[in-house]
Amino acid sequence: MENNIYVTQPFLPSLDEFIPYLQQIWDNKILTNCGPFHRQLELALCEHLGVPHLALVTNATIGLVTALQALRITGEVITTPYSFVATAHSLIWNGITPVFVDVDPETLNIDPGKIEAAITSRTTAIMAVHCYGNPCNVKEIQNIADRYNLRVIYDAAHAFGVGNADGSVLCHGDLSVLSFHATKVFNTFEGGAIICPDEKTKMRIDRLKNFGFTDEVTVVAPGINGKMSEINAAFGLLQLKHLGEALARRSEIDCTYREQLSDVPGIRCLSPSYSMPDGYSSNYSYFPIIIGDDYGMSRDELYQKLKDNNVFSRRYFYPLISDFPMYRCFQSAQRANLPVAAAASDRVLCLPIYPAMQDVDQQRVIKLIKGL
Ligand SMILES: *Cc1c(COP(=O)(O)O)cnc(C)c1O
Repeated sequence: MENNIYVTQPFLPSLDEFIPYLQQIWDNKILTNCGPFHRQLELALCEHLGVPHLALVTNATIGLVTALQALRITGEVITTPYSFVATAHSLIWNGITPVFVDVDPETLNIDPGKIEAAITSRTTAIMAVHCYGNPCNVKEIQNIADRYNLRVIYDAAHAFGVGNADGSVLCHGDLSVLSFHATKVFNTFEGGAIICPDEKTKMRIDRLKNFGFTDEVTVVAPGINGKMSEINAAFGLLQLKHLGEALARRSEIDCTYREQLSDVPGIRCLSPSYSMPDGYSSNYSYFPIIIGDDYGMSRDELYQKLKDNNVFSRRYFYPLISDFPMYRCFQSAQRANLPVAAAASDRVLCLPIYPAMQDVDQQRVIKLIKGL
């Protein structure tokens, strides 16, 4: 019987290496409330990612909700339908109306050329997503934001460690939010971080994630509980030590797929970003392919065939956010407004890629796709 191959597997360093961290928590009895591991991880990540300030949070969804609060965003926000549903949910949790704009056919990120037409007098911000870790056209998005006085928040859940010679992609926009969920490139079981441009913004976010407390008796904002616990932060510190090995293996798997699928008619591998040339570094977090008409079977047929052979690929992102019942009612959610996203959503398949993936397993996936 062949083993199951999932789209991803969490990256877990050895348990033996984690025990000393746990021992330290048991010794000092600090479990949460921004303890020593929390502080260490914030500093280590700033250094690793090349960002000025960062606030750890319990997960990216709370991070997005808090980022919107921190910038006091209201009214309408322009966003992409081609993402994980948490992107738009974070708007609804702030009483904001999402306005969906179609994506670029090459990157599947929000198409800057279509943003202006969606701006109204109620628009206050753009929430874009670096889909699959491919950077958005950050310059063009900032140009539009500057012209219309809008804020920019990036859902950077996929973009850990992505950048180029000019620096991290996380330094663009007003705030960026990372996810450290178990399925992401860098994980703390559950977790995330908000990248802040300056000390003052970080302080505001640190208060918001701790109920709005500034001291024992003073509450200055209706904050939330968004604090990362010590156990999660400790795991992040351990994982960071091994991230280089994990990325090297991801890069090999990415390279093999590209080489061996390049001559399959009807299969297009999404290429890494062209919007950040000059020393672009990817994180190889996903391996999306687009199934064309000349492939010989539909995306869903291939998805099912793989599944029948114990290969569990994922249709990221299907359905579109705009097709879920709580979003369908918005004018901008109509499929006619989002033809590129709708087509991609019907044709995309994310193939298994994770550090522990064995060559034989990858060959099994490739053979099934090639029909061998
Ligand atoms: C994973 C993900 C999120 C949510 O992250 P959590 O840490 O699980 O809350 C948000 N947006 C995108 C694009 C994601 O992939």
